[in-house]
Amino acid sequence: MEELNPPQSATAEHELSNGISKLTLKEQKKLKRTPEPKLKPLQRSLELDPDAGNFLLPHDERYDNLDRLSESYRDILEGVGENPEREGLLDTPKRAARALLYFTKGYEEDASEIMRSALFDENHDDMVIVKDINIFSLCEHHLVPFYGTCSIGYLPNKKVVGISKLARVVETFSRRLQVQERLTKQIAHAITEALEPSGVGVIVKCTHMCMVMRGVEKPGSSTITSVMLGEFRNNPKSREEFLNLIKN
Ligand SMILES: [Zn+2]
Repeated sequence: MEELNPPQSATAEHELSNGISKLTLKEQKKLKRTPEPKLKPLQRSLELDPDAGNFLLPHDERYDNLDRLSESYRDILEGVGENPEREGLLDTPKRAARALLYFTKGYEEDASEIMRSALFDENHDDMVIVKDINIFSLCEHHLVPFYGTCSIGYLPNKKVVGISKLARVVETFSRRLQVQERLTKQIAHAITEALEPSGVGVIVKCTHMCMVMRGVEKPGSSTITSVMLGEFRNNPKSREEFLNLIKN
């Protein structure tokens, strides 16, 4: 993700500064106040790339960063106006750093590997559904949690996977910095890649604390994203069966 981000945002900023120089002072001021619209299309296409944020880092390599991460949390404490030396906060930087590494442990896990470890040849072609798998993730825009559930359905095409592996794949992708749309896609893509099923449906329903806590959304409201592939996209009957089964 770090490799992807700088060139993209650098280009966008370049375009933005070029644009400003041609505008009147009044327009410049207006643009400076609201630069987001110019950046959005680029950021959006990056967010929705199913491969963004999809890389692996060894466990040891991540924990080598612990000291640097703790230092950063110390800066954050000072940044919000706190005193990192007061008793209650003395161990907070290290504790928070460890917690963050745990919350993002999905970077240590390979979803394709997890799927491959429990593939079976089966002459089973009825719909397989796992519903309400818990999700705890971090929104990559605010580094604030979003949480909820994921339901998965697929129509096997000679291959099936151990049910628990579907939950593991959800866990792997959600324990990374995420946007809900991409998370949903990545789960669907991992299943498609490993099982080559006739159809896949993934529905994710989450509450975003960055919205709720800032009052953008009412507490209790949730965001639903879905990806339907193959039979689930093309055949209304299969899609309806899936939607009915996850409802009850
Ligand atoms: Zn957010």
